[in-house]
Amino acid sequence: MIRDSADAVVVGGGVVGCSIAYHLAGRGATVVVIERDKLGSQSTGRCAGGVRRQFSSSANVVMQQLSVRLLAGLEAETGVDPEFRHIGYLFVLTSDKQVEDFRRFLPMWHQAGVSDARWLEPKEVRELAPLVEGDDILGGTFCPSDGIASPHAVTLAYSGAARRLGVTLLEGVAVDGIVHRAGRVEAVRTTAGEISTSAVFNCAGAWAGQIGAMAGIDVPVSPYPRNIFVTDPMPEVTRRHPMTIDFATSFYFHPEGDGLLFGMGMADERPSFDTGVDWTVLEAMAEVVERRAPRLATAGIQTAWAGLYEMTPDHQPILGPVDQLEGFWCACGFSGHGFQQAPAVGYLLAQWFSGEDPQLPLDIFAHRRFATGNVEPENNVV
Ligand SMILES: Cc1cc2nc3c(=O)[nH]c(=O)nc-3n(C[C@H](O)[C@H](O)[C@H](O)COP(=O)(O)OP(=O)(O)OC[C@H]3O[C@@H](n4cnc5c(N)ncnc54)[C@H](O)[C@@H]3O)c2cc1C
Repeated sequence: MIRDSADAVVVGGGVVGCSIAYHLAGRGATVVVIERDKLGSQSTGRCAGGVRRQFSSSANVVMQQLSVRLLAGLEAETGVDPEFRHIGYLFVLTSDKQVEDFRRFLPMWHQAGVSDARWLEPKEVRELAPLVEGDDILGGTFCPSDGIASPHAVTLAYSGAARRLGVTLLEGVAVDGIVHRAGRVEAVRTTAGEISTSAVFNCAGAWAGQIGAMAGIDVPVSPYPRNIFVTDPMPEVTRRHPMTIDFATSFYFHPEGDGLLFGMGMADERPSFDTGVDWTVLEAMAEVVERRAPRLATAGIQTAWAGLYEMTPDHQPILGPVDQLEGFWCACGFSGHGFQQAPAVGYLLAQWFSGEDPQLPLDIFAHRRFATGNVEPENNVV
């Protein structure tokens, strides 16, 4: 039996939908979350768990400062440890342009309160990340308090706490229509019945464009499959090895269990909803891995999986209500950063929904930017 009305219906039970539901309920709203599959089973459950503040856009840096603060308090708030390991994030830089850009970012990061982010000379990069090799390294940036948290734990924290606040979380139920009249949301149609509501939150991840289409709204989010590979045990590599990103290629790796987790975006990637592992990616990465982290190249592969990035044209999320339809809110298009942004996004959108000014300005994330051209792209996309 599903609830037949709610103050807000959240479409999608990934980490973003669960965070929003929890924060809305914390401010007294009645909320239903509709998840077609299992909570956290899609991009959230397949992500690398990275949490960092080293973005090119200052709006993302300050949002991540808030997320990190919220993650620090998550266990006290919900009883679930997010397993945030502060192993640090290292960007390895190999071109003059990257050096110029990241040297410019550093004061911006410091001003936003990321006081421990620092510049590294090539020798320091190699000392800090012993797996990294290459004479082409010109330097790097490192923030020791960035790191890795558990997507499962964070989703469980928010969904469990939301349930305790009275949120209805439905799994195995799909949204198949948004009912609206005279420019206002009236109900959400699902495979288990209709829920009348004046507010719907589009938290459908890579499928957010489909939910937008149900409401007649163009939500420019495209799905891009990304593969993750995990090596056999590598006991010689410290579990404190930082999350390391070769910025030119987007090849990244970090300790995972007894081995290393790694992945990379492909230059010729195309939109698709296919989440089968593409083993040809491993071959395509071989040259980069052998050049940048040759010891990793010799390790066997223990497991692999694939998930979807949810890309917008400017690699920024779409947050807040849309102009064309009253009551239609977006929290989607995270372009590969939604796990780490979910705590802040839930908090800020719940403030906004409750009639308060969000604690941080969210203008550059507005859906209307695609019409007005008021765009500030995020460039530090991995
Ligand atoms: C390989 C990989 C590595 C990543 N690494 C990182 C990282 O290190 N750090 C980071 O911050 N982010 C990372 N990301 C990105 C991150 O996973 C996503 O940005 C984040 O999980 C988005 O959360 P979400 O809740 O919006 O989406 P999802 O977790 O995909 O949740 C959306 C949900 O909506 C549901 N849904 C869709 N359509 C419907 C419908 N019609 N009715 C009902 N439900 C529906 C889906 O079933 C899904 O569960 C990575 C992603 C991938 C694929």
